[in-house]
Amino acid sequence: MDAAEFRRRGKEMVDYVADYLENIEKRQVYPDVEPGYLRSLIPEEAPEEAESYEDVVKDIERVIMPGAASPACTELETVMMDWLGKMLKLPEDFLAGTEGKGGGVIQGTASEATLIALLAARSKIVKLIQADHPDRSETDVISKLVAYSSDQAHSSVERAGLIGGVRMKKIPTDDKFSVRGAALHKVLKEDRAAGLIPFFFCATLGTTPSCAFDCITELGPICNAEKIWMHIDAAYAGSAFICPEFRPLLNGVEFADSFNFNPHKWLLVNFDCSAMWVKKRSDIIGAFKMEPLYLKHDHQESGLVTDYRHWQIPLGRRFRSLKMWFVFRMYGLKGLQAYIRKHVTLAKEFESLVRADQRFDISADVVLGLVCFRLKGSNELNETLLKRINSARKIHLVPCQLAGEFVLRFAVCARTTESRHVQEAWSHISHLASELLQELPH
Ligand code: PLP
Repeated sequence: MDAAEFRRRGKEMVDYVADYLENIEKRQVYPDVEPGYLRSLIPEEAPEEAESYEDVVKDIERVIMPGAASPACTELETVMMDWLGKMLKLPEDFLAGTEGKGGGVIQGTASEATLIALLAARSKIVKLIQADHPDRSETDVISKLVAYSSDQAHSSVERAGLIGGVRMKKIPTDDKFSVRGAALHKVLKEDRAAGLIPFFFCATLGTTPSCAFDCITELGPICNAEKIWMHIDAAYAGSAFICPEFRPLLNGVEFADSFNFNPHKWLLVNFDCSAMWVKKRSDIIGAFKMEPLYLKHDHQESGLVTDYRHWQIPLGRRFRSLKMWFVFRMYGLKGLQAYIRKHVTLAKEFESLVRADQRFDISADVVLGLVCFRLKGSNELNETLLKRINSARKIHLVPCQLAGEFVLRFAVCARTTESRHVQEAWSHISHLASELLQELPH
């Protein structure tokens, strides 16, 4: 959709809303649809090819309006999370289907998803231990709990530990910045010997500093054998798994209890939309369920209705699945795959430019849209280069530390980025680097 069409569609949408408000008294106040009404009205999978905006909007009256207010909001979310799960080829266990034990929910952010997973895991382990040892108090068990993540994990993971009131330990990564099975195994052995209770491991697929991937095919079986909840945080990289060539990076997800990524980061869905799946919805509901009288409804115990309020911290919810529905249909799976591939190609183009310049090093494997690079030389030199790049205000780079080195990060992430932007960015960086190096004493 170009800017002209966006203006036109936006105005049409305002008319639709105004008509709705003007004629609201002609509409039914309370829906008369049966639970599950929506699933049969739309396809089981996202379309391969793009559809027109008219086709999507036409379906609002047919699919959404009969379930005005809550049922449509809930049911479209369940089906969209299944569509997206199928696009990623998630194991069947994570899909809701009509009778599944798992399913997806839209959270606001990856930070929330990690916290929810950690709290659910905490509640599960406390119940498990108390079942065997009824004399042990909840406080006593919680004081012994220990959760783990990569030493490259996002700060939100450490924060989940802080908010959840449990110890959080960082597992050292290998030379590819990836957590391996042996490293986790070693720490688990030590902690069990010290009387601690390991209960949660947050694996990262696509770490923030360098887009590294924890080895979940090794870590998953260890977590399963040790009854440790494995959550996967793929906040950025997850979108790429809709492409068959990147899907192997998700191998091992079958061992996870929960998995999350942010379509709002790299799948063209506007903020906020963080997609989280659990294998056993009972684990998450068991941790957060509250049933006051004012929230009771007829289908409470029928099992036909998903009550997302039990899957999250807030009670109220936005209709975020509408954004997914529009984007998936208007791009089609092929359009979304093309979008991801284009960004990865542009990142590789930038990588080649860096590699062709003897003054620079590439600091980590370039797998998706992030390129970590630095000038050969001291951290101070690279810090100065970054300062000059950012204060020139033409492009913006955010740095990271990798193995003690100050590293610059070039991320391709805007919808409109083209090769010429990458070329211009590189010539700008290269020019500033030349200026800086000339100033150094020879
Ligand atoms: N996890 C990873 C790997 C990230 O890269 C980020 C943010 O960049 C986050 C979590 C936090 O994401 P959110 O803002 O959705 O909480």
